[in-house]
Amino acid sequence: MIIVLKPEATEENVTHILEKTAALGLRANVSRGVARTIIGLIGPEDKLQVVPLEVFPGVEKVMPVLAPYKLVSREIRKEGSVITVKGDITIGGKKILVMAGPCAIEGYDMLLSIARKVKAAGCTALRAGAFKPRTSPYDFQGLGAEGLKMLAAVGQETGLATVTEVMDPRDVELVARHADVLQLGARNMQNFSLLKEVGKARKPVLLKRGISATIKEWLMSAEYVMANGNHDVILCERGIRTFETETRNTLDINAVAVVKLKSHLPVMVDPSHGTGRCALVGSVAKAGVAAGADGLIIEVHDNPEEAWSDGEQSLRPGQFEALMQELARVAQAVGREI
Ligand code: PEP
Ligand code: MN
Repeated sequence: MIIVLKPEATEENVTHILEKTAALGLRANVSRGVARTIIGLIGPEDKLQVVPLEVFPGVEKVMPVLAPYKLVSREIRKEGSVITVKGDITIGGKKILVMAGPCAIEGYDMLLSIARKVKAAGCTALRAGAFKPRTSPYDFQGLGAEGLKMLAAVGQETGLATVTEVMDPRDVELVARHADVLQLGARNMQNFSLLKEVGKARKPVLLKRGISATIKEWLMSAEYVMANGNHDVILCERGIRTFETETRNTLDINAVAVVKLKSHLPVMVDPSHGTGRCALVGSVAKAGVAAGADGLIIEVHDNPEEAWSDGEQSLRPGQFEALMQELARVAQAVGREI
């Protein structure tokens, strides 16, 4: 259920509604837009029958939200959400946020070297994994806590916002202390303990779509994070598993358009994992921007042939720089900027 308040509704009106609905055991989410305030109510809807919310001072209308996801739904918030990642670095507005960097942190010097190059190319956020979800237990698993320290230091040194994956609910606090954005990987999209834990964190969450997840399941996972108190959720389409073998995954460009329709949350595209091949990354990144993505996350490595993970889909800094220039032209063509 959502309660749309009149433009002239006061803080007192809001408090009054919140007190009444809290007494009924309903959880409220207050969304303060530029034009008006909307209150989302979560809980047993039958309790609402006993309270005529329509007659409360300041209320314009009361609407049931039909989608199974409530806080995520565009029904609750007509305009797209703009999320602050760090300082004045945001996602969801006119400017498209590009996050770039190595798949995994391999050391301080390599991270700093790549960070400086992606920054020079116009990028404002650095991606790099310290905890790596590898298919084989014998593959490199990431530098863990040591890697996080390197990421925080490079973030500080360059001013770039930092994005890194958290795989274990017990590490959320640690990762949140070192990084600006908590990445939830495709393999953990339905790890409900982890979703609840990042819901309690005060850092934005980058929620990747599960390898075989429907869009609805993905949005329900975002709802878990928001329902647990963290409203700063960024969705990321990173390709799904299909019958196609030419590419590592099939990047579902439809998903970008569907999410924009169904949700107010920003959505990104990951052309690196979406294709698995460096030769295809640029084309799919441009397609993502043309389809309305609010951000891109791209793997870049100084020496892809020696990378400890995902070298085959990593761009060299020079290729990334050239791509950024092409992306700027595509962005401009669709009324955005990079
Ligand atoms: C990654 O970003 O390096 C990663 C492991 O992504 P995904 O969870 O999409 O596979
Ligand atoms: Mn990777």
